[in-house]
Amino acid sequence: MNEYDSNRIYDLVSTIGFSKTSFKKEADCVVLNTCHIREKATEKVYHEIGRVKKDFRNLKKPLVIVSGCVAQAESKEMIKREPYIDMVIGPQSYHKINDLILNYKKRKIKIDSTDFDVVTKFDQLEKIPNTQNKISSYLTIQEGCDKFCTFCVVPYTRGAEYSRPFKQIINEANNLIKNGSREIVLLGQNVNAYNFKENGKNFKISSLIRELNSIKNLKRIRYTTSHPRDMTDDLIDCYKDCNKLMPFLHLPVQSGSDKILKIMNRKHTKKYYMNIIERLKKINKDMKFSSDFIVGYPDETEKDFQETLNLIKGVNFINSYSFIYNSRPGTPAAEKNSNNLLHNKDKLKILQDNLKNIQLQNNQYYVDKCCEVLVENKLDSGDKFFGRTKFMSPVKFKSDRCKPGDLINVKITSFNQNGLFGFHENREMKAA
Ligand code: SF4
Repeated sequence: MNEYDSNRIYDLVSTIGFSKTSFKKEADCVVLNTCHIREKATEKVYHEIGRVKKDFRNLKKPLVIVSGCVAQAESKEMIKREPYIDMVIGPQSYHKINDLILNYKKRKIKIDSTDFDVVTKFDQLEKIPNTQNKISSYLTIQEGCDKFCTFCVVPYTRGAEYSRPFKQIINEANNLIKNGSREIVLLGQNVNAYNFKENGKNFKISSLIRELNSIKNLKRIRYTTSHPRDMTDDLIDCYKDCNKLMPFLHLPVQSGSDKILKIMNRKHTKKYYMNIIERLKKINKDMKFSSDFIVGYPDETEKDFQETLNLIKGVNFINSYSFIYNSRPGTPAAEKNSNNLLHNKDKLKILQDNLKNIQLQNNQYYVDKCCEVLVENKLDSGDKFFGRTKFMSPVKFKSDRCKPGDLINVKITSFNQNGLFGFHENREMKAA
């Protein structure tokens, strides 16, 4: 989502005369768009500001803006601690960036803009075309979260769940497609909680998927990140009849133990989660999944950890994110003691080895087979291109005739843990 927000911040400031520079030292303005999810996020921002200070030591000081969730969480504390920062802007206030910059230039008074003004944000953004022109483009449809998992900062930094108007999203999608996008990734902290009501009608993420599925020049649809509680029947049904919805779902589970899931306030059990996986596999036997895992959550025992490993084996996740639990200030879990860190490192290694083996087996499966690939870009080295399979696996391949945006068959010749390698297949073959 920060990538989407950064692009939109650029779209905004470009209307008051700013343009991107590849020479950092030439910049009149530096914007650090920050994420607060990972450990030591705040310290990393101060560290980065230190680098900017060093770069501009003998030069005119640029306007320094910290935006995003660290700005939201720390607000004016940042300006107090680091006077080199001129402005902090929260993720729900960045639509005001132009007025704030112009105001600062006039009055030279430090600015803290961290209101939750999400409705006005998207109304304002609607007036500025989204200039992204990547083959695969992000499109935010929903922000915020009402779930309050005990480890997570999102409900505090992004605020309550908000769904953008249906028509506003479809217009932005059409604009992206006109710019050349062939894949749209619908985004939200709780993307499948999307729920927009207008004139007595209820628009869900399934309504968006169905509408996008009918747009001629769009080839693929994805969405992320979903919560198991919001995998409703109407969304699951989209996998039956929306041919552009990719058969790959990132569905965070965090733990395979019901006890830990309850402590995390995840609002689902292992059985509930597995039921969704089984229903989707029944609709499409090729369906594949990835997930997020937290290791060493407070009160996690060996038995709980073993249950997570069993769940990994049961689902066969082809790609996942996993971390040792670290407390985020301000969350309910921050009050609890974490488990033994050394032991958690061992546990993380075991878990990641399991995931790695599955990923390798999955990649190996494609050797000598054909994969359907959406070509994203040409690589610097001559006749090589980059694209992704339906399951998001990166593929580097040779071709003498494809172009970005084409859907082609690639014959896979080799693999490593992270991706596949091959060549543009001549014959039309049934592709995986
Ligand atoms: S559902 Fe996701 S975003 Fe919401 S609190 Fe839980 S982990 Fe955070």
